[in-house]
Amino acid sequence: MIDWKNIDTALLDMDGTLLDLAYDNWFWLQHVPAEYAKANNIAPEQSLEIIRDWINRHHGTLNWYCLDFWSDELKLNIAELKRQTGDRIALRPGALEFLRALKSSGRRVVMATNAHRDALSVKLDRSGIGEYFDELVSSHDYGVAKEDQGFWTALQQQHPFAPQQTLFIDDSLPVLHSAHQYGIGHLASILHPDSSQPKRSHTNPYPAIDLWLDVLPHE
Ligand SMILES: [Mg+2]
Repeated sequence: MIDWKNIDTALLDMDGTLLDLAYDNWFWLQHVPAEYAKANNIAPEQSLEIIRDWINRHHGTLNWYCLDFWSDELKLNIAELKRQTGDRIALRPGALEFLRALKSSGRRVVMATNAHRDALSVKLDRSGIGEYFDELVSSHDYGVAKEDQGFWTALQQQHPFAPQQTLFIDDSLPVLHSAHQYGIGHLASILHPDSSQPKRSHTNPYPAIDLWLDVLPHE
């Protein structure tokens, strides 16, 4: 499924790819609405409706991934809420074995995430995956989300890579489309980003990784 002999660089998404998206979905669709209801003394249903509406308005933009933006909008300390609930952050099954094998294969490993630096640091602390990466890149460093071509141009400038020898794995289809448009040669999606939801049906044009063990790199 992955043409390892022609790949020297792996760019990896974090949430929904290496980490279970169940945490983020719980956080935004249950925990934040509950905290917002408490802080504003409104009914939980009303709070959920407000938060859903805001999510729909900002999804896929850099604002959506920006803890400062949400903290300002909601008057809740989102980074602090993430820290308080960090024990729910979990790796997807086999992700650590994949990272270990990837690192020891000698390939360059770069995280490319839309997560805000504050969220990234909580997640690295909790998951311990930071040590497997040569570089950790947040799209907030560049001011453009991965959905935007500007992200790939900025990444190329800061950490040059050969697109045809590069693999990019992400659970988001708009992000994969953006990487494809930029010319990344090897792309893969994720079949089961959120363990609290059923597996996705595989209808996108990119190979879908189910078990990490099936795609371990060889030297
Ligand atoms: Mg993701």
